[in-house]
Amino acid sequence: MTATSIPTPSRKYDLSFARWVYKNVEGADRLPLCMQCGMCSGSCPIGGEMDNGPRKLFMMIRAGMKEEVLTASTMWNCTQCYNCVVRCPRQVPVTYILQSLAAHAHREGYAPKKATARFSKAFWLSVRWFGRTDERLATMLYFFSYGIKEGIMRALANLPIAQKMVMTGRMGIGLPHRSKGAGSLRAILAKATEVEARERAGK
Ligand code: SF4
Ligand code: SF4
Repeated sequence: MTATSIPTPSRKYDLSFARWVYKNVEGADRLPLCMQCGMCSGSCPIGGEMDNGPRKLFMMIRAGMKEEVLTASTMWNCTQCYNCVVRCPRQVPVTYILQSLAAHAHREGYAPKKATARFSKAFWLSVRWFGRTDERLATMLYFFSYGIKEGIMRALANLPIAQKMVMTGRMGIGLPHRSKGAGSLRAILAKATEVEARERAGK
């Protein structure tokens, strides 16, 4: 992936930002095929925690809203469940696009703020410990990052959602399962961190 800096559109619907995204963001070469059906946002279990759902974010890219896109909580709150990818009628790899956008936003100094940073940290802890995203663990780590009292309040407030997810088979009960390749994934992440640090240092 090239490290060209992201253009700032000079007016509304200036396509320079969208073209940059199509070319530099992983999976975004399929973004022009998005027909704004909203299936991705409608299928997203975490949509309530996003300021803009994927469908809206993709329209904002077309509208040249660089600042708003790169500071959106969408990519930081995405749990990578791939619901949107499986359901998109145009085979737009929504999850990859969000992941890659997050990496570019981070590199360009659009660091996540407040809740989004907490959620992102919780997500990565879940991945590092278990080699996979466990919705229950990531959600609990996020809730309790606000402290015990606030964590309990948030957990109780979201209990009806959790119950529905369990009843519809969208979430299991019991302890999180560690993926077989958790150790290998940790090694890959360590290597990736090392390579990135080297690239940043220009070596
Ligand atoms: S589901 Fe696919 S086509 Fe529909 S809005 Fe989302 S990305 Fe676009
Ligand atoms: S992969 Fe992310 S954006 Fe897509 S449905 Fe899951 S949480 Fe939502």
